[in-house]
Amino acid sequence: MPVQPLADRAVVYATPLRTRFRGLDARDGVLLRGDAGWGEVSPFWDYGDAECVPWLRAGLEAADLGWPDPVRSRVPVNVTVPAVGPEAAHRIVEGSGGCTTAKVKVADPGQGAAEEQARVEAVRAALGPRGRVRVDANGGWDVATAVSRLRLLDRAAGGLEYAEQPVPTVADLAAVRRRTDVPVAADESIRRAEDPMAVRRADAADVVVLKVQPLGGVRACLDLAEQIGLPVVVSSALESSVGIAAGVALAAALPELPYACGLATVQLLERDTVVDPLLPVDGALPVRRPPPDASTLTAVRPGAALEHRWRTRLARVAAAGDRS
Ligand SMILES: [Mg+2]
Repeated sequence: MPVQPLADRAVVYATPLRTRFRGLDARDGVLLRGDAGWGEVSPFWDYGDAECVPWLRAGLEAADLGWPDPVRSRVPVNVTVPAVGPEAAHRIVEGSGGCTTAKVKVADPGQGAAEEQARVEAVRAALGPRGRVRVDANGGWDVATAVSRLRLLDRAAGGLEYAEQPVPTVADLAAVRRRTDVPVAADESIRRAEDPMAVRRADAADVVVLKVQPLGGVRACLDLAEQIGLPVVVSSALESSVGIAAGVALAAALPELPYACGLATVQLLERDTVVDPLLPVDGALPVRRPPPDASTLTAVRPGAALEHRWRTRLARVAAAGDRS
């Protein structure tokens, strides 16, 4: 990968988060300008250089190639409800921009079954009977806990759409799937796995969650979706609207899109890289690609230390990409 041209067309951004998420209170990354538009490269800081190479490939695809043609003009999205109390959960769903699907975070270390049941019941009440409720445990349960907890939460929800990564490993996912009626979705088992196809071989999931940056771009995700042959939910990596647009492009290009996607995350950012952010309207994101402009890029410009840290990281990741 070309190191020098990269540095010349890279712009670093940083923004605080409105609420702490995934242990983060800020988000930052690099935007790359190219003939096809802008791409985002924003691996989290706990990723090593080699693991960041797919993130760079995704950004280069967006900037230099663009994406395959869409087959739909809007992408339904879910609202995400963190591990909050029932009143807050209700408010979050009501203020979601018309989302009719909610993803409820569960398996929070400080909480038990009662808190989760109350949160799921509040979300169902806020959505009404026609809404869909899914839970995401981020691999936080063991098999026995997952099986018993899903039974309770399925009842509290009046039927769960699916449970995302209830347990950490592919073998555990397969075990849970055999012992529950709730469909199982694989997220971490795809995104940080050596071999994303293991989920398919083990019959470990009914649904797979794909994220554009960690999987190396929109085309790489379309290929993977075809190989896996399971329904896909496209999710964000908490990007600015430049990176979210790549997720929207993937969701828009998939032949089938039976579930709402996890792309409504721009509202978590205090500032965005574009003037007209990708926020949900009537529960969906429009298929479009809002560009940054001089004013937004100035507003998200970081201090010199973070700027330098990203530029040296980008050069190291490009070098790692050349070696791989
Ligand atoms: Mg997840």
